[in-house]
Amino acid sequence: SLHLGVLALQGAFAEHIHILQSLAHGNVHISGNEDPTHSSENVPFTVASVRAVRNAEELAAIDGLIIPGGESTTMALIAERTGLWEPLAKFTRTKPTWGTCAGMIMLASAATGTKQGGQRLLQTLPIAVQRNRFGSQLASFEAELDAPCLEPFGLHPFRAVFIRAPVVTALNAPEVQVLAQIDAPVGSDPLPEGSTRDVVAVRRNHCLATAFHPELTGDNRWHHYFVSMVAAYVAQRT
Ligand code: GLN
Repeated sequence: SLHLGVLALQGAFAEHIHILQSLAHGNVHISGNEDPTHSSENVPFTVASVRAVRNAEELAAIDGLIIPGGESTTMALIAERTGLWEPLAKFTRTKPTWGTCAGMIMLASAATGTKQGGQRLLQTLPIAVQRNRFGSQLASFEAELDAPCLEPFGLHPFRAVFIRAPVVTALNAPEVQVLAQIDAPVGSDPLPEGSTRDVVAVRRNHCLATAFHPELTGDNRWHHYFVSMVAAYVAQRT
């Protein structure tokens, strides 16, 4: 059985908690090989607890963590002030973690598009991100994603909500897998050189990051996918 947590310092944590609670029981597809986009095994799981995480004690009690959307500079400052930064950095390096939007930025090793001139990053994922990639005129939009990793949970495209979203501009290690891309909406800045579509979901080992807000659409397949990552991690460990 799994113990899940959502970082609750700032931002959209309540919605994630709600969805994880709704996934209390089910089946997850655990990958038989190293490629997380191909699943082979059907394993039952039980979510034993879902908690809001605000301190190191609460963090130590969970198997998997969501870092929600919100404002990444603010979230980092609160984590530093409350002494949670170092435990958080350690957790994300070793245990299943999913950063959405601001959470993706926090997990990145480099970020551009920061007006204040820099912010502290957990640097768990060897990716570069551009904050607020779609600018103010496209502060918010929806787009359909092709995400093969969600297919075990349903075949339809995922309708993703982007809110002042970042985008992945560089993959700095060969193990970083691209899980989803979109066509940049009309009106957004030109893409980085060499890319034809915007990378909006990536994974390396236990660490997942998505640029959009998957908790807002009533389609829980990304949550299901993450829970299957946690279930696989717990199964390996025991
Ligand atoms: N623009 C925010 C940031 O830079 C992220 C927005 C979001 O999480 N919805 O942190």
